[in-house]
Amino acid sequence: MFARFLKPTTACAHCGQRWDAHQADDFPSYIVILLLGHILVPLMIEVNSALDIPLGWQAAIWPSLALLLAVAMIQPVKGAVIAFQWSRRMHGFG
Ligand SMILES: [Zn+2]
Repeated sequence: MFARFLKPTTACAHCGQRWDAHQADDFPSYIVILLLGHILVPLMIEVNSALDIPLGWQAAIWPSLALLLAVAMIQPVKGAVIAFQWSRRMHGFG
């Protein structure tokens, strides 16, 4: 589906379905932010109640983990948003 990291291919090589008309906009980013908050905040609370990690290390670990997870999640989430729009014939797939 993707020609580049977050750029959908113009059309499917097999069936010719056009993917460049989607209108996912910022919705994948909102979903990733929502999911990251629900993953990282409980994890931070649990880790800090179980372990005594120095604040300097935490200042490096949590933003790095957030960045890593955001980069890992954004493409599948965008693909899911575009697939949902396609399945419902919404926003450019009508
Ligand atoms: Zn196809």
